[in-house]
Amino acid sequence: MTVKLPPRRLWTAGSQAAQQPASRPAPVYKCPLCNDAGWVIDPTRDLSNRSGNAVPCICNTRAAQKRQERLLAMGGQRGDESTVRLADLRRGPYNEQAIAATEKLIAAGHGALTLTGLPGRGKSRLLHALVNEMRDRGVETQYTLTTVLLDYLRAAFDPERKANEFDARWQALIDIPVLCIDELDEYTATDWATVRFKMLLDFRWRDLGSKITAFAVNLKPGQTLEQTKLPEKVVSRISDGRGRVVAVYGHDLRKRSTDDQPT
Ligand SMILES: [Zn+2]
Repeated sequence: MTVKLPPRRLWTAGSQAAQQPASRPAPVYKCPLCNDAGWVIDPTRDLSNRSGNAVPCICNTRAAQKRQERLLAMGGQRGDESTVRLADLRRGPYNEQAIAATEKLIAAGHGALTLTGLPGRGKSRLLHALVNEMRDRGVETQYTLTTVLLDYLRAAFDPERKANEFDARWQALIDIPVLCIDELDEYTATDWATVRFKMLLDFRWRDLGSKITAFAVNLKPGQTLEQTKLPEKVVSRISDGRGRVVAVYGHDLRKRSTDDQPT
């Protein structure tokens, strides 16, 4: 949106401007509704609600829509992955901690969580449930695989020209309120990917107080995060104590009957 500027008054000695004290030019906002704050006050809204009466401005909603559309193009959930909720998950001692950590994350609405464990323990399913529960709350979410995320960025990366699409994709990944990245161990650690991924984590960690970032990592029996092919900087970031790392133990759900939930 362009805002029409008032014609600038010429400053000449002895003119009107000399009589009226020169005031600072009024700031120019892209959105006159919220003055670019992204939020407006809705006086009709119930103040007893924890979130108060601030509601997203229409400009904020539009930006969010654009961001979500852009990220959806990356691809994410398939089939019933987009419908599973926490209540649908099979619970047992093996995933008690992981589910509790996910519930806590949802209740807080921000933070970081890394689920580790052998393949087929329901880590992906838990990430999907987290994404879906947050989407139910009206929050923008994105589920993706590490390789898909890096390919999505790489496809728009062009050092030869102005990388508008790359910048837009990158910004969307930084800004989206809920980002869940699966199969972190499927990481092809080229220099470019490592630098980018570490940078993305740094940005996401900066917003731990307002956004959710979650990962799932497959580990072999007895293997630690440090023993994966994940870059050291990525491992030290996700295990720096500011986010939680929770293991999912137990049977391979995929080897059970069809009643059981696949990952
Ligand atoms: Zn606005």
